[in-house]
Amino acid sequence: MKRNLLAIGLVFAALSLAGCTSGLQPRSSPANPFGWPAKLATDAGFGLESTEAPVLRDAGRILYGLGDFLEGPALAFEGLVLFRRERFRSAGLKFASGAGELVTGVVSAPFLIVPGRNVDLARDADLVNAGLEQIERTPPEAWHASPNDHRTEIFPRGTRVKAHGTALLWTIPGEGEILQAGEESLFFHAVQAIVPGTDYEAQERSWGMIVKDLEEWDSWNPRVRAGTIIHEFVHQYVQIRCQFKGWSIAYWPAYGVSFVANGWEGHWAERTGPRAAEAVDLALRGWAPGEAAALGSRRCDTQLGQIFVTIVAYREKFSAEPLAIEDLLQAGVLAKPGDLLCPADLAGTAGYVYLYPFRGTETPPDSILVYDAAPHPDGSRRVLRCNGERAVLAPPEFEAALREQREAMLPLLAPAIDAARAAAKSAAGGDKEALEKKLRVLEKLRDDAAK
Ligand SMILES: [Zn+2]
Ligand SMILES: [Zn+2]
Repeated sequence: MKRNLLAIGLVFAALSLAGCTSGLQPRSSPANPFGWPAKLATDAGFGLESTEAPVLRDAGRILYGLGDFLEGPALAFEGLVLFRRERFRSAGLKFASGAGELVTGVVSAPFLIVPGRNVDLARDADLVNAGLEQIERTPPEAWHASPNDHRTEIFPRGTRVKAHGTALLWTIPGEGEILQAGEESLFFHAVQAIVPGTDYEAQERSWGMIVKDLEEWDSWNPRVRAGTIIHEFVHQYVQIRCQFKGWSIAYWPAYGVSFVANGWEGHWAERTGPRAAEAVDLALRGWAPGEAAALGSRRCDTQLGQIFVTIVAYREKFSAEPLAIEDLLQAGVLAKPGDLLCPADLAGTAGYVYLYPFRGTETPPDSILVYDAAPHPDGSRRVLRCNGERAVLAPPEFEAALREQREAMLPLLAPAIDAARAAAKSAAGGDKEALEKKLRVLEKLRDDAAK
């Protein structure tokens, strides 16, 4: 028994050292009848795997693994008859990776039956290809994630995707085709709500990727989505499929142990390993494809329009101007925190700056009310004025407009601050709290204007 385990261990070690080959290729000859069941299972599996129905999809993933598994004996037979040694090697690879996919598929099937909506990865296919081209143009020194990363390429050169239903079909030169599907996972969402410090939008699976919240994912800048899709595919293909030979049951504990021990920073799968996924993020740093930038900018404009509508709703509800932009969320007039992020921001983290119109109805109507905290990729910023008008301002225009507005505001702020301070002093209870908040907002406006 012990010797068997040792032998299995050695086979795995040998397979892992065999480089980043997933065992997608070669397959047994079409003339080899022993390979027919394998092909039948793989084809049926692929067909089901790419459907939109959860149970069929999971069955497809298992069938696909079975097909790979059955290729093992078929290839071994060819090795015997044709006296080809490399056929035996392929047979071992197929056998190991097929078993991994099969076992993993069976074990995880019960958890996957909770239906999740499909994520439309296919609509980002062009952008994913543009990202892959960008990665190929970037010198490896720029994306090597750590000193022990010696890759010359992240994926074989020429790797591209095409739409397949809502999924992506990756064509990998010298390897074959592999499906990346996307699903929304309520389970993933719930786990992150419970575990403190976790808030990730997407996570890899051996068959593709899951997202936490479909609406949030859809609202992302397409450029950020494309980068994330490629990043998750490094986990799915390079790590789970190549490095772990499809044994995602082994991958996840290895991932988890490293996470507990090293956290995000020292993680072999993300940052420090020779096949770390961060290489994608590094290679795509500063990448701003024109189409995505234009779309992001248009979305930002729509979002500012929506913010204005909610400010008007707030005014009507409370007969006052919101003190801070986050008040729109607390008051329930704006739906989610993501609505306060600029969709054109490449990192997906920049929000908006709100200038509290402390003069109320006396505020000049063309004053800037809200503006982009960070410039868009082309350097411009979008602004929302007090009268609801929106505009794109180039850097010098924006700087000048903001400076002018601050200079006009500064002398008026001192009396407003004095009045607010006096009012806060004499008030009590909840009123006092609100007035103190108003005082802080006014003081911040003054400090920013005086800079
Ligand atoms: Zn990752
Ligand atoms: Zn913006």
